Amino acid sequence: MDFTDQIVVVTGASRGIGRAIAQRFAEAGAVVACVATTEQSAGQTALLLDQAGFRAIPYACDVGHAEQVEAMMANIQDQLGTPHVLVNNAGIARDALLVRMKDEDWDRVLEVNLKGAYLCIKAVTRAMMKARYGRIVNVSSVVGLHGASGQANYAAAKAGLIGLTKAVAKELGSRGVTCNAIAPGFIETDMTHDLPEDFRKYVETTAPAGRLGTANDVAPAVLFLASREAGYITGQTLTIDGGLFL
Ligand code: NAP
Repeated sequence: MDFTDQIVVVTGASRGIGRAIAQRFAEAGAVVACVATTEQSAGQTALLLDQAGFRAIPYACDVGHAEQVEAMMANIQDQLGTPHVLVNNAGIARDALLVRMKDEDWDRVLEVNLKGAYLCIKAVTRAMMKARYGRIVNVSSVVGLHGASGQANYAAAKAGLIGLTKAVAKELGSRGVTCNAIAPGFIETDMTHDLPEDFRKYVETTAPAGRLGTANDVAPAVLFLASREAGYITGQTLTIDGGLFL
């Protein structure tokens, strides 16, 4: 898939799945806006890509805050041009059983994982509609499809992303803008670093793939959904879980 000179915005690009996505887009010729919470974290991926001869620019932004998202998208528009692709990958987990869940943890997970995607989409919508072209990919989760004990906030946010994806697909489809989601299973990143050993074993023995996933298992699917060739696919959620939930 060719993304030569396309402007691609990847949120949560500093590590894990977002870094792999940013790297793949850069390798495919894109100019990648690498978004993370701080200059330093966003800069880690941008520097890595830059040193490898690719084009990547860091942007610091808390995607849960409207004014920061608007300022970041305005900067990207000024410095790089209208984004062709937006990947809403930034996400956090604040797990707890319902009875112990703190309201601030509910609010923050919804703010980053769901409102963040809404704000980023809103901030690029006018420009994409004007360009009559756009690809939006939201990173949901199998937890948004199936739920998980101890993750009511995360599951609600990730399920919300799927509803958001369908609504945006319907609203922007006539303007050449598609919106799809992916639902990764359990992927080796900082987020899953502390998964209990018995749960890892469960995934390894239950998933037909026989292992947890890697960020590189996820990134190519994002590139496909963001490609020109995927223009007739919209409003869909693609599960990438090694068959765990079959
Ligand atoms: P990760 O390694 O913990 O990375 C999270 C990324 O999100 C970092 O780049 C982080 O930036 C960024 N981020 C966090 N809060 C942010 C905010 N308020 N504003 C902007 N950026 C923010 O996570 P990951 O495992 O790669 O997960 C990436 C996405 O995939 C998340 O949406 C996650 O829910 C989803 N997912 C993960 C798995 C899995 O098994 N790992 C499975 C399904 C779905 P900083 O470095 O600046 O903090």
